[in-house]
Amino acid sequence: MIKTKQSSLALNIPDSSKPRIIMVGGGFGGINFLKKINTKLFQVVVFDRYNYHTFQPLLYQVATAGLEPDSIAGPLRKIINKKHNVYFRMLKVNRIDTEKHIVFTEAGELTFDYLVIATGAKMNYFNKPDIAKHAFPIKQITHALDLRSHIFQQFEKMEIITEKKRFDKYSTFAVVGAGPTGVEICGALSELKNHALPKDYPDLDIKNMKIYLIEGLDRVLPSMSKKSSKKAQKYLEKLGIEIILNCKTQSYDGNTIKLSNNKEIDVGTLIWAAGVKGNLINGLSAKSISNGKIWVNRECRVYKDPNDQSVYSNIFAIGDVAHMEHENYPKGLPGLAQVAIQQGKHLAKSLSRIMKKKKSEKFYYKNKGVLATVGRNKAVADLPGNITLSGISGWIIWMMVHLLFLIGFRNKTVVFANWLWNYFTYDRGIRLILRPSSKKKDRMSREMESEMNETENINF
Ligand SMILES: Cc1cc2nc3c(=O)[nH]c(=O)nc-3n(C[C@H](O)[C@H](O)[C@H](O)COP(=O)(O)OP(=O)(O)OC[C@H]3O[C@@H](n4cnc5c(N)ncnc54)[C@H](O)[C@@H]3O)c2cc1C
Repeated sequence: MIKTKQSSLALNIPDSSKPRIIMVGGGFGGINFLKKINTKLFQVVVFDRYNYHTFQPLLYQVATAGLEPDSIAGPLRKIINKKHNVYFRMLKVNRIDTEKHIVFTEAGELTFDYLVIATGAKMNYFNKPDIAKHAFPIKQITHALDLRSHIFQQFEKMEIITEKKRFDKYSTFAVVGAGPTGVEICGALSELKNHALPKDYPDLDIKNMKIYLIEGLDRVLPSMSKKSSKKAQKYLEKLGIEIILNCKTQSYDGNTIKLSNNKEIDVGTLIWAAGVKGNLINGLSAKSISNGKIWVNRECRVYKDPNDQSVYSNIFAIGDVAHMEHENYPKGLPGLAQVAIQQGKHLAKSLSRIMKKKKSEKFYYKNKGVLATVGRNKAVADLPGNITLSGISGWIIWMMVHLLFLIGFRNKTVVFANWLWNYFTYDRGIRLILRPSSKKKDRMSREMESEMNETENINF
């Protein structure tokens, strides 16, 4: 154990005879670490810039008026309050001192014996500032609410304009990135087009609304089996989505997308689902970073230098922020909730082993399957044992898995009730424009700010 002493009550955290773990991030990795950590052995301090956990796989349903934001978020204090000896502080961690074992937040600093970095990922715009400025990301609840308001504002604008060119632009939506998120947003937009919008806007010709799905690789759902990929493409085409493959998005000025095949499309809404990079914290060695993520060994320990395999003895990273090479995944484990969940649980047990002077064990990822839905009765699932499912069976599994992993009984009930309502009424009930169109003003600056890894909503 590394001994650290901090006499003052930094951030009102009491001194303890037990070693202190600081965990940064209350996402899938963080909360599963908390569920398993033995708090008889450790004092645990959790930092997160928000006071809630976000169930990111359902963000797209918030953005497309299928679910309320509250139903996919869970207050972190509710999870933490069940545990003794765990303290939560709603703070962003800005920097760490790896020599002195200190984390620096906006409100003060705190020493640690062990540090767990579980800060997840943020949007990667691949150094294209114009896209960062004008495209809609979908990574946080605030993003989903911005997008929801923007979508319905486009239709409100169409009601009052007469110029055809502008009308066509407002009614054209493009989603970049045909991974599960991109595919799911396209499916949800097409449900809006086919059911809710024609009722709300009977004077508009909603049939002319265009939805493009643009992908740099040669198929949709490139990380899934070819069979699932083909099936999903068929579903999307049936819904009227225009799929453009083998094509990179070069630029977007808020009006026109320029593609690598030299084509241009006038688009009023560009949704960016094309990639993420780690939410890094300053202070680690430059050699610890690989492809925008923190490089860890199989015990989740952060490499000081992967070339000589040296590690920080008491700093760990898990989930989306971590780059871990693994059997079957030589380029690193995928950014999936299951990876973060399993790493969180594994690390909690490992730290107990370390305290009991036992050797920590290697992490093995158990692939429990990958799922994506395109809409009602349409989903694809790649399950262990090369089993693939599609159609209604895939869709039922998709729903069950999402309900199972949602945090809290209330959220599960509300989401299920909303899904039942949406299914039988063909309605998407939450078509409210709650936020002013932030696209041109504050959203632009916030996106740039978030690019620089700044925190929203917290001012000291
Ligand atoms: C739209 C979308 C759809 C997805 N769909 C699926 C899916 O269908 N299936 C699937 O398996 N995966 C899906 N994923 C991926 C999955 O959500 C992630 O793999 C998972 O959330 C990673 O968990 P994590 O704990 O590493 O990070 P996160 O869940 O992102 O949590 C990170 C936490 O760290 C906090 N934080 C970040 N920086 C700081 C800081 N400096 N200081 C303090 N706190 C900080 C954040 O506020 C956040 O609470 C999806 C992701 C997105 C965005």
